[in-house]
Amino acid sequence: MQEAKELFKKLKIVSLLDLALITPSGYSNNTLSKELIVGEVQTFKAEVINVNVNLNGGRMHVVFNLSELNIELKSIFFKVTPYHYDKFKIGTHHYIQGKIISFRGEIQMIQPRSIQNVGGIIPKYSTAIPNHQIRELIRTYITKKNLYSEGLNRYEVSLLMKLHYPKTLEDIESLDTDILKFIEAFNHIKKLRGKKIHFPALESLNGNVEEFISNLPFKLTRDQERVISEIERDLKNRDRAVKRIVIGDVGSGKTIIILASAVMAYPHKSILMAPTSLLALQIYEEATKFLPKYMKIALIKQRDSKGDYLSADFIIGTHALLYKDDMPTAPLIMVDEQHRFGTKQRVKLEQIVAQGKRKPHFLQFSATPIPRTQAMMESELIDMSLITTTPFKKDITTEVIDRSDFNRLLKEIEAQISKNNQVLIVYPLVEESCAIAYQSIDEGRGFWERRFKNVFVTHGKDKRKEEILIEFREKGDILLATTVVEVGISLPRLTLIVIVGAERLGLATLHQLRGRVGRLGLKSWCYLFTNDKSNKRLQSFCKTLSGFEIAKLDLKFRKSGDILDGTIQSGLQFKWLDLAEDEDIVKMAKERLNNLS
Ligand code: ADP
Ligand code: MG
Repeated sequence: MQEAKELFKKLKIVSLLDLALITPSGYSNNTLSKELIVGEVQTFKAEVINVNVNLNGGRMHVVFNLSELNIELKSIFFKVTPYHYDKFKIGTHHYIQGKIISFRGEIQMIQPRSIQNVGGIIPKYSTAIPNHQIRELIRTYITKKNLYSEGLNRYEVSLLMKLHYPKTLEDIESLDTDILKFIEAFNHIKKLRGKKIHFPALESLNGNVEEFISNLPFKLTRDQERVISEIERDLKNRDRAVKRIVIGDVGSGKTIIILASAVMAYPHKSILMAPTSLLALQIYEEATKFLPKYMKIALIKQRDSKGDYLSADFIIGTHALLYKDDMPTAPLIMVDEQHRFGTKQRVKLEQIVAQGKRKPHFLQFSATPIPRTQAMMESELIDMSLITTTPFKKDITTEVIDRSDFNRLLKEIEAQISKNNQVLIVYPLVEESCAIAYQSIDEGRGFWERRFKNVFVTHGKDKRKEEILIEFREKGDILLATTVVEVGISLPRLTLIVIVGAERLGLATLHQLRGRVGRLGLKSWCYLFTNDKSNKRLQSFCKTLSGFEIAKLDLKFRKSGDILDGTIQSGLQFKWLDLAEDEDIVKMAKERLNNLS
């Protein structure tokens, strides 16, 4: 088919299984019926034996002889055109199809159609192209032979054949959705596999990290050790520039992994890009504290950069480094909090240092856990390291509260401040708005400022945000803010967070916010302040501290139609597969593909 390509494009189909997985929206039953059943659409072999046209009413009555049932059937046409007079002449033979009704005690068929093909159950598809075209595509491409050569087994092939070419109604009713899930996962992973392209690396990097690790004032977690050795293996390879993403909750100790990677790159250069100058500064400070003294470190920000980046071994910067026209090349680049950057910025960083076909090793770090199943899929495109443990056992109590708990909350806040700990209160808005049933910062701040000392205020659009955060870190008691604090700033004395209007936020955002407290293992509290205390999503959020678990919950609630804010990524869309539940199926699909290749 010449135009098949065009049609595939319209259907957004890129693989044979994409086509096979287009499920019919319904079926029309064209098998001949053996008896009359009132209320059903039925099909019969029929001969016209009488025609009666009632021109006044615009109706036509036709009587058919159903030879196989040996009865006469009356029918009525309400919409009559010359086509009908012509078609249903006395003595003509038809396969008629229409709904059987009982009218004033008389059985009739209403508005019969004369159809061409009988003896089958015909799928109907609701797609962007007309039915006859998609059926033509299915007939051409969805054959047993083609399905087997995709790597499916006979159960899967037989299921797809039944889906598109059912012989009986039972065929359709008995479809096993687990098999459909498997085919969907299999197809998705297969497509991703096809997209993976390898480039040669700029250098093989094998600097020794042993000494760096043994000089650290703490022992690495097992996850940190594992990821560092995965990276060690990656970076040695000159034939293949690695693309790896390290995903771990806030506070899981990713910075040390960044520093260890810079040590492995030495004596070659490495570059790290961070989303805010505060984060860049924090990493710079940790780098100066922990990296061996012979490594030269530079910090690039829009204002007050530190060190000479041209001669530095490890360059840390914000996106400002993308606009330096004399950036030195580096065989290792890294991006922290990668989801805060657009793809373009990440690609630009890569291009700055790439040389012809050779690309830098590229490590990305993310504090946004994704469900394990999704990670299993995405690892087809990019290598993944998941960190599920934190160096400090987190001890955070999460509680849903409302107005009636306010006095108790105040006492807890006072208690924390008296222990030299800090408190963060997150408001939904800066200014008053009637659209939201909660106070804004502007409305709330008077209360806190009258009652407490050392109250600081900042928000997303605040130009002085970073200065205020730094000042708060040293001398603040209470910080009033909007969700700006989501970015991984570290406030080690923070032990209590109140999130106002918590049900308005997605679980991922709530998790990021909760991750601000108890970073160094101090006993901490997270209060979700809401007018809807019975909210199920918030209740289940209270029960777990694991980001991976929360990503899973998030999927579940999203499916159940709970309305969330815009901070959640759109996620993968599957018709059958449920990423929250179907880990085993995804695993099986991967294994099948491994065995095939
Ligand atoms: P992340 O970037 O994953 O959110 P960080 O790298 O900022 O986390 O680490 C959080 C804190 O834990 C930092 O103060 C860091 O120095 C400390 N830290 C990291 N690894 C360990 C460890 N293995 N043992 C003790 N403290 C650690
Ligand atoms: Mg970090």
